[in-house]
Amino acid sequence: MPDRKTRRDFLHHSAAAAALGLAGPAASGAAAMTHFVCVTCGMQYLATDRPPEGCPVCLDERQYVGHGGQKWTTLAEYRKTHTNAFAEEEPGLHSILPQPKAGIGQRAFVVRTPAGNVLWDCVPPLDDATVAAVKKLGGLAAVAVSHPHYYTTMVEWSHAFGKVPVHIHKLDAAWVMRPDPVVTFWDGDAKPLFGGLTLVKTGGHFDGFQVLHWPAGAGGKGVLLAGDQPYVCQDRRWVSFMWSYPNMIPLGPAAIRQVVAALRPYAFDRLYGAFPGQVVAVDAKAAVGRSADRYLRMIGG
Ligand SMILES: [Zn+2]
Ligand SMILES: [Zn+2]
Repeated sequence: MPDRKTRRDFLHHSAAAAALGLAGPAASGAAAMTHFVCVTCGMQYLATDRPPEGCPVCLDERQYVGHGGQKWTTLAEYRKTHTNAFAEEEPGLHSILPQPKAGIGQRAFVVRTPAGNVLWDCVPPLDDATVAAVKKLGGLAAVAVSHPHYYTTMVEWSHAFGKVPVHIHKLDAAWVMRPDPVVTFWDGDAKPLFGGLTLVKTGGHFDGFQVLHWPAGAGGKGVLLAGDQPYVCQDRRWVSFMWSYPNMIPLGPAAIRQVVAALRPYAFDRLYGAFPGQVVAVDAKAAVGRSADRYLRMIGG
């Protein structure tokens, strides 16, 4: 269940909370309540009668407020300005990329299994054409999002597909800005879903950071859907590990070792990152290991 207490604690303790219109008692009975969306990170908020005064995700050290200041939009606005482009990345895996860029610029994926499909990560725009295209792929049985930078409109996506569960690690509960009964928190190191899929908690970039292991991917050699971590480098034989990507704040040795250890039990030959073109096409698990070794060497860890 969404932990409202945790969220409120976060809001009260966050440096951003004072500025955030959501920290007070929820407005009731007011007309024209809107789920505002932060333009820079795509996070959708609890409905309010006016935009929140700040976005805690963007005010956090790991992100940034847009250079033109805090701006807000809505799902209805995205419908006027954006479409989602679908691409088959490999059999059983489709990417969804907003055109033009929305939020941080990530793509989402539909992972297909005989037991049902998962929306992995999320993008802010969602329109009727997108719903129809995903239904053509078999619809969704669940949503899972690696970390708060991609939570965006995940509740809208769930609602559009019959209120399927949205799986989030409990350690990141405080970052859910639009609490809803569909958001399901899990605890521990791994959560099996269906169709062989497993959510694996790695920590690192966020305390509750999770990746999705898809053993049937890459022709049965296994795929890791990694979001931001491990992060696929421009030299796509390598990955990296950062606490903040836009602000270039590294992770320390313990966190990097923790990510590698969390992935050790899972076989995968290919790894997909959040951004277009990010794929370690072969030998991905060894790439994670040698990349961690290289990084640790460079930071004297
Ligand atoms: Zn934001
Ligand atoms: Zn991120």
